[in-house]
Amino acid sequence: MSTSASSRESAGEPVFDTAFFHRWLTAAAAAVSREATRLTELDSAIGDADHGSNMQRGFAAVTAALEKEPPGTPGAALVLAGRQLISKVGGASGPLYGTLLRRAGKALGDDERITVRQLAEALRTGVDAVAQLGGAAPGDKTMLDALVPAVDALAADGGSFAAASEAADKGALATVPMLARKGRASYLGERSIGHQDPGATSSALLFAALAEVAA
Ligand code: ADP
Ligand code: MG
Repeated sequence: MSTSASSRESAGEPVFDTAFFHRWLTAAAAAVSREATRLTELDSAIGDADHGSNMQRGFAAVTAALEKEPPGTPGAALVLAGRQLISKVGGASGPLYGTLLRRAGKALGDDERITVRQLAEALRTGVDAVAQLGGAAPGDKTMLDALVPAVDALAADGGSFAAASEAADKGALATVPMLARKGRASYLGERSIGHQDPGATSSALLFAALAEVAA
């Protein structure tokens, strides 16, 4: 994996600093804004047509908070983002994404430079918390169908942000034939089959943004 301008090599392993996390969250906000219409279209098919606006509102608050009170560590950046999503986004996705980022940020602690392995472990902690909060598992047609394979790919030997992004995209696509078992889409029963899950799609955007800023 190539390192970005804001990362440094340590013992041959790329490490990522606070500025990198700031750039990730900013790129995620841009991606969510760019794709908001599509996310809302997906949510209009199997939900209540607000996923794009929810994500856009939440990530706009994240970028505003990053500018207002710049965090001092990667962990603090993720905790700040998680708090904004929890407080600014109603609906299922705000508390779930907020929990993902807040718990991952806490798991990073006060370290100023983070390795891929550390981030994979922290995101695993966050994803486990999402599964616990929402009571969902992979196969239920939720954001977990993109998040779990992405974190698996990142945690694998030689794992990279590019591989995680690819796994998230595949995971999101694999939700199309699934029957929704959690969230609003589950009210549709069999009629949820044949549509891509909006939350799995936005999760893939977050990993695409990570791969983009690391390239
Ligand atoms: P709401 O469903 O409240 O309108 P959003 O439209 O913003 O919230 O988000 C919907 C997405 O949230 C779904 O596509 C799904 O990926 C995710 N989601 C909903 N419920 C759960 C759950 N219990 N566990 C994990 N993800 C969930
Ligand atoms: Mg919705």
